[in-house]
Amino acid sequence: MTSSADIQKFILGVPQIVPESRCFECRICCRFPDTEEVQIPYWSETEAAWVHDKDKAGTWFKPVPGTVSLEPKLVRCGEAGYRCPAFEDETRRCTIHSLKPLDCRLYPFVVARHPSSDERVLVMDTKCPYIQEHTGDPELAAYAAHLADYLSTPVAAAYLETNPKLAGPFWPEYASVASLPGLSGERNPPAAEDAPHPALKPWSMELKGELLAALRLCPHDFSGYTAASLLGWSDLIPVWWASIGGAFCLFSGRAGSLFMPLPPLAGRIDAGMLHEAWEILKTANQGGATSRIEGVEPSRMEPFEKAGFTMKPGESEYLYSTRDLIRLSGDRYRSQRGSINRLKKNLVGSELRTRPFRGSDAAECLRLYTRWAIRKQSRTEDRYERALVRDGLFFHRRLMLDAGALGLVGQVAEVGGRVVGYTLGGAVSDRVFCVFLEIAEPEVPGVSQFLFREFCRTQEACPEINAMGDSGLAGLHQAKMGYHPSGFARVYTAAA
Ligand code: SF4
Repeated sequence: MTSSADIQKFILGVPQIVPESRCFECRICCRFPDTEEVQIPYWSETEAAWVHDKDKAGTWFKPVPGTVSLEPKLVRCGEAGYRCPAFEDETRRCTIHSLKPLDCRLYPFVVARHPSSDERVLVMDTKCPYIQEHTGDPELAAYAAHLADYLSTPVAAAYLETNPKLAGPFWPEYASVASLPGLSGERNPPAAEDAPHPALKPWSMELKGELLAALRLCPHDFSGYTAASLLGWSDLIPVWWASIGGAFCLFSGRAGSLFMPLPPLAGRIDAGMLHEAWEILKTANQGGATSRIEGVEPSRMEPFEKAGFTMKPGESEYLYSTRDLIRLSGDRYRSQRGSINRLKKNLVGSELRTRPFRGSDAAECLRLYTRWAIRKQSRTEDRYERALVRDGLFFHRRLMLDAGALGLVGQVAEVGGRVVGYTLGGAVSDRVFCVFLEIAEPEVPGVSQFLFREFCRTQEACPEINAMGDSGLAGLHQAKMGYHPSGFARVYTAAA
C-alpha cells in the first residue's frame, strides 16, 4: 500500500533537466491554443489538494466525468489562446512552481499510451525548444534513462496505475524513450472475454510445450517459427490460439485487426483447416482486409493455392554462413574488419570484452536502448521508422525478461565494465540460429560489428545465421547486404 507521503516524495522528487530560467523564457509551455489541447496538464486529486490555498475560490478545476481526476479550467489569454489557471501572464511564471503536478514536472518528457495497446511509453516532446537544441547530448540520453528508472519504481508504477489518465495519446512529434514500467512489467495475458472470436483462447506460457512440439512439425529457416518471435510482441499484440482439425493455430491481434502469424501448425495442412481458420479471421474482422495468414514457406504453399488463396511475398530474412561471419576474411569483409580494428585501437588500455547475457543485465541494456533510440529518432522524420523504434522497446524488454523461458542466449559487450552493446538470439532449427536483436552504444563505433562477430563465434556449431529482415529500410538493407548473405528465408502471406 502506497502512503500519500510516499506519493508526495515521489512526485516532488522527479529530477529536472531543463534549467528553470530556460522555462521562464519559453513561450510555449503552460499556454494552449484551445481547451481541447492534448497537453493540458493532468492533476490527480492529491495534487489538486496541494494547491488548495492558491485556489481558495475553488475555480481552478472541473471534474472529469467518470473519473476521480480533475482538469484545470483554462483561462482565456488574448490571442495566444488559453493559459493554465496557475500561470501568471505578467511574470510568465508558474505561481505554484514548488507544487506543480507530476505531468508538469516530467515535461518535456511525457507519459503516453501506445497507440494500439494499454502499454505506457515514456516519450520526449520534440516541440520543446530545449529538446530540439540538446537531442544529441549524452546528458539528455542519460537523464531520459534515469527518468525511466525513476518511473519504474514501485511507488511510481502504483501511481501511474491508479492515474491512467496521466498517460495521454501518442502524437507523431513524440520521440519514444522507454517502456514503462521498465522491468517490473509483468506479462498481462489477454482476458478470455476479450477474445475476438468465441473459438479463440488466450495464449499463456503454460502452452509453451505444445507450441514447441507443433513448431517442430514444420521444418523451417524463418525466424517466425520460434516462441521468441511469436511471443516477443505479446505486450503490444494479444496472442490467441485454437485447435483446428488437430493443428495448433495461433492468432494475433484484436477484433478488426486479427491475423495468423503462421499457417496451421501440423505435419500436413488440409483445405478444411484453412477454411475454418479463415472463417475465424473473416468473422473477427467483419470481412475487413486485415485478414491474412503470414509465414507460409514456399514448400507449404500448395494447399493454400489449391484452396484458392492468393499468395504474396512477405518480408525475407537474411541468411549467412556462420563460418563467413566468424572469419570475415577477404576483401568483401574489409569494412567490417576495419571497424573492429579501429574499435580495438581506439580502446587501447580499456578492457573490451564480451560475456554471456544475464537476466540482471536487462536494466542496463534497456538504458542503452534508450540512448540508442534517442539518437536513432533524432536522425529521421520517418514515422514508420520511429514507430519501429517505439515498438522495439517492448520486443527487447519482453525477450530480455523471458530469455530463459523462450530459449534465448545472449552476449553483452563491455568496455571497462560498462555495457556498450547487447544481443540475444535462439535456435530456429538444428541448422539455423537467429539473432533476434542487437543494440550497440552509438558513442562507440565498431561495437556492433565486434559484438556480432563474437556472438557468431558462440554459435560456431550451427552452419547458418539468420539476421532477420530489414523492415523495408534502405539503410538496414545495405548493412545486411554488406555481410554478403548466403541466401534468404522467404515466406508468403496468404489471403482469400
Ligand atoms: S501548473 Fe504551473 S507548470 Fe503546470 S501548466 Fe500550470 S503554470 Fe505551467
